[in-house]
Amino acid sequence: MDDGVLEAVALRWVRRICDRPLPAGLEGVYDAERDEIVLSDRLSPIQRRCVLAHEISHARHHDVGGHGDAVTERRADIDAARILIDMGEYVTAEIVYGGDVCAMARELTVMPWTVRAYREWLHDNAAIHR
Ligand SMILES: [Zn+2]
Repeated sequence: MDDGVLEAVALRWVRRICDRPLPAGLEGVYDAERDEIVLSDRLSPIQRRCVLAHEISHARHHDVGGHGDAVTERRADIDAARILIDMGEYVTAEIVYGGDVCAMARELTVMPWTVRAYREWLHDNAAIHR
């Protein structure tokens, strides 16, 4: 998904997106009270789109309390992967790169965690439909 489209999606759920310094280790945050997504101004373009997609999930679900809860985090990572990754492109990348997550991430212009989350989602879905 194009970054402009991704931002438009984000703005359906929050009033604004801000890029500004965040404490070390924090890449992004959904602030329900201020109705905004804050992204660290130190992110690379690829990191930024992945973190933004993750925060969109928190905004859609009105998650409060940061990134503390493992179940919520997993959902946000999987939502981000589903926003950013096209299934056809994913399948092609998996075949071409033999499942090498880092190579697939480069090909799909996402972070490796996003590829892992997508794989997890595909795996869960295959299990459901078996
Ligand atoms: Zn999170």
